[in-house]
Amino acid sequence: MYDYIVIGAGSAGCVLASRLSERADTNVLLMEAGPPDRKREIHIPAAFSKLFKTEVDWDFSTEPQEHLNGRRLYWPRGKTLGGSSSINAMIYMRGARADYDAWRDLGNAGWAFDDVLPLFKAAENQERGASAEHGIGGRLNVADLRSVNPLTDAFLNACEAAGLAKNSDFNGAAQEGAGLYQVTQKRGARVSAADAYLKPALRRGNLTVWTQVHATRLMIEEGRAAGVEFFMKKPPGLQQVRATREVIVCAGAIGSPQLLLLSGIGPRKELEALGIPVAADLEGVGGNLQDHLNIGQSYHSTKPVSLSNAESLPNLLNYILRRTGPLTSNIAEAGAFTKSRADLADCDLQLHFAPVYFVEHGLKNPPGHGFSLGALLLTPKSTGRIYLRSADPAEAPAIDPAYLSNEQDVAPLAEGLKLVWKLLESKAFDAFRGDAVFGKEDPSSFIRAYAETLYHPVGTCRMGQDASSVVNAKLEVHGMPGLRVADASVMPKIVRGNTNAPVMMIAEKAARMILEP
Ligand SMILES: Cc1cc2nc3c(=O)[nH]c(=O)nc-3n(C[C@H](O)[C@H](O)[C@H](O)COP(=O)(O)OP(=O)(O)OC[C@H]3O[C@@H](n4cnc5c(N)ncnc54)[C@H](O)[C@@H]3O)c2cc1C
Repeated sequence: MYDYIVIGAGSAGCVLASRLSERADTNVLLMEAGPPDRKREIHIPAAFSKLFKTEVDWDFSTEPQEHLNGRRLYWPRGKTLGGSSSINAMIYMRGARADYDAWRDLGNAGWAFDDVLPLFKAAENQERGASAEHGIGGRLNVADLRSVNPLTDAFLNACEAAGLAKNSDFNGAAQEGAGLYQVTQKRGARVSAADAYLKPALRRGNLTVWTQVHATRLMIEEGRAAGVEFFMKKPPGLQQVRATREVIVCAGAIGSPQLLLLSGIGPRKELEALGIPVAADLEGVGGNLQDHLNIGQSYHSTKPVSLSNAESLPNLLNYILRRTGPLTSNIAEAGAFTKSRADLADCDLQLHFAPVYFVEHGLKNPPGHGFSLGALLLTPKSTGRIYLRSADPAEAPAIDPAYLSNEQDVAPLAEGLKLVWKLLESKAFDAFRGDAVFGKEDPSSFIRAYAETLYHPVGTCRMGQDASSVVNAKLEVHGMPGLRVADASVMPKIVRGNTNAPVMMIAEKAARMILEP
């Protein structure tokens, strides 16, 4: 029996379990399906793509995507302490002011940018120091890269020559422009949500953490969430644990709607078809799935300078002794925010440059040296959904992001691709550029053939007040007392940027709303 049960020790769950257990009079259980975060590749930044398709990755695939030549896309998601923040590219990004103001305008009081900026700042330890936009002394260390690859310098020169303004802080006064990314690292090592929030809290007697424990169903008694049924490997079998105050679902944009649906919280028709008794008829659960679709190109490099040899013995020694060198790279070292059309008020394209091949998530990199640049659409209009294939909690849900199902998403992404080509073909890369990995086609066919996720699914337990929303502005599930959702799934609209820091902010706010109602 615990006061609070937090399901999922990812970006949000680690923040919540830590904050809730700061109150000595509360008893908190954090339950995680994956193992502890012991793998070395979690902590050495440049190694993160080696975690793909291992035991710390859920290794999801989408349904065949009609507008991407029927391809099924691979979706990595973290399955360990820290969740996806233990396998991500560590870019520290908040998104644009307009994103949060839009959340407020959709009826979510307290979520405008001016409301959430203090939470971002309180969570942050900005190594550059405090400022109007940045905080120090928070749990999440935000650092500049310790080692910048010469190919990344070439990318920044290409941007300058193309007329993109320099931006030394994408989380500062304005997003637009090109520059190096800041990263969630400390002394050259990853800082996941588990590193930042959970580990410092582990010695508290009122916080219990269970790993390799898979929540299979919420226990609903007399119309309220009373606890969690879970599957444990050792001893194998189903067991139950009760919450006296609240259950908080932090299982991510895929896991959270899946668990709600398995518990009978979702669209009545869908649940009845699978023989799941309906506890709350909420049509929006699993809907409103949004993601950032990325289109990239890689080139062979004529000089052996890329991150392909990051693991050489000298680099390894340099990392161990000084915590510098290529192993500290987050791979996506630099990028840019720009507009596909001059008349837009805010940026709708984001670029990520990697001084290494990044072919099919790095899983199909050719041997040798290369570099990659991708453009993603920050403001997709296409929305998809997550739904159950069966009532079996062990079966992955169906994931249909319906990429490019809204035709209006194609033109801006094509502009992004043209910019990618222009930059990669520009003079700044002449000293490095070999052959392109993918042959050029017309932009829309190229996108349909090669676009992939940039790992930011959100929105599947949408916050709002209308009939198809799932949680209210306090993140309480409509019609189900004792239950909240707090993670990427509550975003009403995807933010213009990478999603880790926004999710941690959501959890910071959730903790405050729970403790100070
Ligand atoms: C490869 C990759 C690169 C990325 N790069 C960046 C980046 O550079 N910068 C950035 O800002 N964002 C990045 N992101 C996105 C960012 O990491 C995620 O948006 C964020 O971590 C999501 O947080 P979450 O708490 O919603 O979910 P998660 O962090 O995924 O946490 C969910 C947790 O719940 C657990 N869980 C799920 N179901 C159950 C269950 N039934 N029972 C028990 N536990 C369960 C999972 O194992 C997981 O630990 C990246 C993501 C990936 C995958």
